[in-house]
Amino acid sequence: MAGETVIKPDLQFVHQVIASGGDTVKKCYQCDTCSVVCNPTPDAKPFPRKEMLQAQWGQKSVLKDPDIWLCHQCSDCTVYCPRGAKPGEVMNALRKMCIQEYAIPPQLAKMVGDSRYLLLLIAFPVLLLLGVLKFLGTIGVNVGEHGEKLIHQGIALPEGTIRFAKLFPTLLGIDFVFVPAMFFAVAVLALGVMRYWKDINEASPFKTKVEGNLVGNLIATLKDILMHNKFRLCETTYPRSTNHLFVLAGFIFLAIVTGWGFLNEWVLHHESPYFLFSPIKLMAMVGTAALLYGIFNIIKSRQANAEQAGLGGYYDWLFIYVVFAVGATGLLSWVFRLVGIRILAYPTYFLHLTSVFFLFFYAPYTKMAHMVYRTAAMLYARMSGRGF
Ligand code: SF4
Ligand code: SF4
Repeated sequence: MAGETVIKPDLQFVHQVIASGGDTVKKCYQCDTCSVVCNPTPDAKPFPRKEMLQAQWGQKSVLKDPDIWLCHQCSDCTVYCPRGAKPGEVMNALRKMCIQEYAIPPQLAKMVGDSRYLLLLIAFPVLLLLGVLKFLGTIGVNVGEHGEKLIHQGIALPEGTIRFAKLFPTLLGIDFVFVPAMFFAVAVLALGVMRYWKDINEASPFKTKVEGNLVGNLIATLKDILMHNKFRLCETTYPRSTNHLFVLAGFIFLAIVTGWGFLNEWVLHHESPYFLFSPIKLMAMVGTAALLYGIFNIIKSRQANAEQAGLGGYYDWLFIYVVFAVGATGLLSWVFRLVGIRILAYPTYFLHLTSVFFLFFYAPYTKMAHMVYRTAAMLYARMSGRGF
């Protein structure tokens, strides 16, 4: 028959949705309540009912549907779904699969999403950092006040005033690890989002072309994200938008501090640590406080809303705990240094470096990648006249 469309369900894909946290997907009977109660969705071709249908029917093309990223996981749909199909959780599972679909190498993406590989993933930065410390001679010997080597066997902590720079006595030491890690993460994210952008333009269910000024629209989209305008439309988990805003502000402050520190080190040749109330220090304190406040409240509200909105899976919690570890170890290593507890300050700083490495190096494969995929989808929605 002319115009007939044959849909072939991909059962493997349905199993993947279920394994990724969308285990309730088959309960949906397409009543559309979820799309009606969803505040952020545009009126035309609203989500998430159509994504539930696509996921149920094993249509992998749903991963190219930009609408999965316009959902902000507020869970209003999950609360009102009469079948307990938890569409908010299914949308979350689809986003996880989207990140894994576009990240390269796919094997690493799979490992990051699987709790069985967690220790192996942590072991990589630990061994890498220990290897660099060994290479620089700050492990296996004791380092004196002026960097001189005092003991020539065993693991020993630097003597005298606590200065974390003593662990990496050359400029290249710490940057040797973190600069390539950052370039790796940025390159993988950029490649992934470029492939994703191409796909949503070719395969979007709305078949509309993007139009207008890319830079102008990108600025408007970033402004929307910074103000959390769409996020604030959610009702059930409304406080999440405020907590998320604190985490985002913390990241921005700490990114500025890192850039500033890099400039100080490489261009101005100022040595750390900076004095307690220096602007860079104050900014680091504000950033850390915002990060910890936001992430702590996210943990609390996820637990409080678990019954209504779902607790989330390993993938969600991995990201939450890594962000928490970055903030907590950063704060604690600073406190231990201030009060002069050498035995705790250096190991905590080592844990801080490990968690920072984990956060950034694996960013293209974790929930951290939502920053770029959601931005791309929101930009597409804006430029294609999606009305979002
Ligand atoms: S997910 Fe729930 S609310 Fe949405 S269409 Fe299916 S059954 Fe209805
Ligand atoms: S979780 Fe919120 S934003 Fe996402 S589809 Fe449901 S109601 Fe809409």
